[in-house]
Amino acid sequence: MTAGERGTAVVVGFGVTGRATVSHLVAAGWRVVVVEDAATTSTTVAVAGLGAVLGTLADVAGAGLVVPSPGVGPSHPVYAKARDAGVTVVSEVEVAWRAAPAKRYVAVTGTNGKSTVTTLIAAMLAAGGTGVVAAGNIGLPLVTAVAGDAEVVVAEVSSFQLEYTDRFRPDVAVWLNFAPDHLDWHRSMDDYAAAKARIWANQRPADVAVVNAEDPVVMAAVAGAPGRVVTFGPAGSGADWHVDGDDLSGPSGPVMAVADLPRSLPHDVANVLAAMAAATAAGASPAACATGATHAEGLPHRVQLVGEAGGVRYYDDSKATTPASVQAALRAFDSVVLIAGGRNKGLDLRPLADEAGRLRAVVAIGEAAPEVEAAFAGSAPVSVATSMADAVRRAAAAAMPGDAVLLSPACASFDWYRSYAERGDDFTRHVRALLEAT
Ligand code: ADP
Repeated sequence: MTAGERGTAVVVGFGVTGRATVSHLVAAGWRVVVVEDAATTSTTVAVAGLGAVLGTLADVAGAGLVVPSPGVGPSHPVYAKARDAGVTVVSEVEVAWRAAPAKRYVAVTGTNGKSTVTTLIAAMLAAGGTGVVAAGNIGLPLVTAVAGDAEVVVAEVSSFQLEYTDRFRPDVAVWLNFAPDHLDWHRSMDDYAAAKARIWANQRPADVAVVNAEDPVVMAAVAGAPGRVVTFGPAGSGADWHVDGDDLSGPSGPVMAVADLPRSLPHDVANVLAAMAAATAAGASPAACATGATHAEGLPHRVQLVGEAGGVRYYDDSKATTPASVQAALRAFDSVVLIAGGRNKGLDLRPLADEAGRLRAVVAIGEAAPEVEAAFAGSAPVSVATSMADAVRRAAAAAMPGDAVLLSPACASFDWYRSYAERGDDFTRHVRALLEAT
């Protein structure tokens, strides 16, 4: 097929995913127009290098397809333009699916734990000798991954990407949990839940939906799923995958001892059970599940141990940008000095105080410091830091032997940093400096 034969596709955003989408669509015979709000002269050159042209939103009107990059939020004018012009909007997930519908897909969504569980499932399938690739936020763009020869694609998919799917049909769909998040993106909690439920909307009866038995929103949504439902949950939950005495157990019995996991915070155990359920549905044996779980170390910036001094352990959980993920981290410790704050994503921070009984002190950082103070008013002592160095100093001064100092912000990082990773690295740097000095 020659360029342009299929008509014009507009790709909005020219980051890693946008570029991969452009390359794919050009190769598939589309005339591709790129719209990039922050375009420079070098963007024009790079776009031309991929066989596309730089355009404007005016190009949407004549297009056959519009593909916004994952970071292009709902307030971007492209959505209204496309609606007015009657042009179909699809996410990169849908584009990838249409390019390779014959592959096998495991898709993972949820408010927290997507990257972790995606990595675990891929490790379990790989341990059993399956050709597998992990794609989405954590690894390759999905359009790139589906062009490779991996037999199974494990994809982390967000609710924004799911909202703009149409035919996407994973063989195994995992919905981990549901907590308020991204209300700055979705108009309401109902819209957010409805977008996530699209993960199984096109499934067939032989496909599998893996769900959290303890999450009422997920369980209510899965009642309408067309596939076979497999649940995971803690001991006594009656879930298909659960903790039974000292073991992680599935429908066919024990798979491995909890003690053999590299880390077993409560949410780690839930994540491993979810991954085992999904990997098993995709063909992994119990032995492969156990090997994959043993080899999967935690990902950086997710309750990652930085170091220890004077009996105090320092953990970087910079990836925790919702109160639910902070609560999950706090439940892993008895006594914590919490560093929290940043740019609030429009979430109610008051639920943080539910775990106040575990808190020795709180250090508030960033724009949301007043909201963090208000959340803990009357339940834990809060001091406000003016920088990460100041926050680490204050936390270290408040901590007693046996405590954990935990950076788990419940907020995005963009007030002080470019990313959660940069925030976690800065925390780590200041902690290391402190440890060297003691
Ligand atoms: P996502 O890709 O969904 O953002 P990550 O695996 O990157 O999820 O983890 C994000 C944050 O959520 C981290 O702070 C991590 O410790 C925490 N987390 C991981 N799994 C869970 C879970 N099952 N429930 C609650 N919090 C979790």
